[in-house]
Amino acid sequence: MKILVAVKRVVDYNVKVRPKSDGTDVDIANVKMSINPFCEIAVEEAVRLKEKGVATEIIAISMGPKQAQEQVRTALALGADRGILVESDEDLQPLAIAKMLKAIVEKESPDLVILGKQAIDGDNNQTGQMLGALTSMPQGTFASEVNVADGRVSVTREIDGGLQTVNLSLPAIVTTDLRLNEPRYASLPNIMKAKRKPMDTFTPEDLGVDATPRVKTLSVEPPAERKAGIKVADVAELVDKLKNEAKVI
Ligand code: AMP
Repeated sequence: MKILVAVKRVVDYNVKVRPKSDGTDVDIANVKMSINPFCEIAVEEAVRLKEKGVATEIIAISMGPKQAQEQVRTALALGADRGILVESDEDLQPLAIAKMLKAIVEKESPDLVILGKQAIDGDNNQTGQMLGALTSMPQGTFASEVNVADGRVSVTREIDGGLQTVNLSLPAIVTTDLRLNEPRYASLPNIMKAKRKPMDTFTPEDLGVDATPRVKTLSVEPPAERKAGIKVADVAELVDKLKNEAKVI
């Protein structure tokens, strides 16, 4: 069984992002970049399926600037077998990403495509679903448990009301939620080995995809600063302030 895992290069989750001084975008100059956390979970799940003997090959794919090959290499160090980089300096948006993934799905015929439920930069939560619509593959989004057996994958999903389990025929799409697993760290020997694993590079044009952005960012601003709170001595003071200062009761 072949698994395709999508890994996005994003600003590391520990970095406090700031807008550029002209407010046109988030400033990512000299900022630490990493694999999107949900994509790390996707890689981990694929590697566990390989360790269980369910999967035979894992392909990690990233779409973005040349430097996104670092995230593909990280996925290779975590256990993926080969990598694909679709190189573009465009602002790649979910529909273009989903179209490129569809082209790679047609080329590689994976049994399972695992993506993060969302990328923590744009917080779109769209790509997996769009890929599902474009390919007509069944999808199990927000997975907290994944089991593959008899040509099917059962996905337990985290939904508002609790948990839902869907049973999908393969090939299928899974998007990962936080509780699916705890990703491992890459060991130094595996980081070294990853340097020798194969990586193909394409452009969106090679895949027949027009990656021109369709959504325009008008401006990026930090959220308004919140005023510091105060401590009140007792309930009576709280009620008095709510009534006479905040005038909310
Ligand atoms: P989004 O829909 O942007 O929130 O992203 C959801 C998931 O789609 C991510 O966690 C990745 O698995 C995949 N994805 C989105 N953009 C990219 C990209 N540029 N390269 C690789 N995977 C991506």
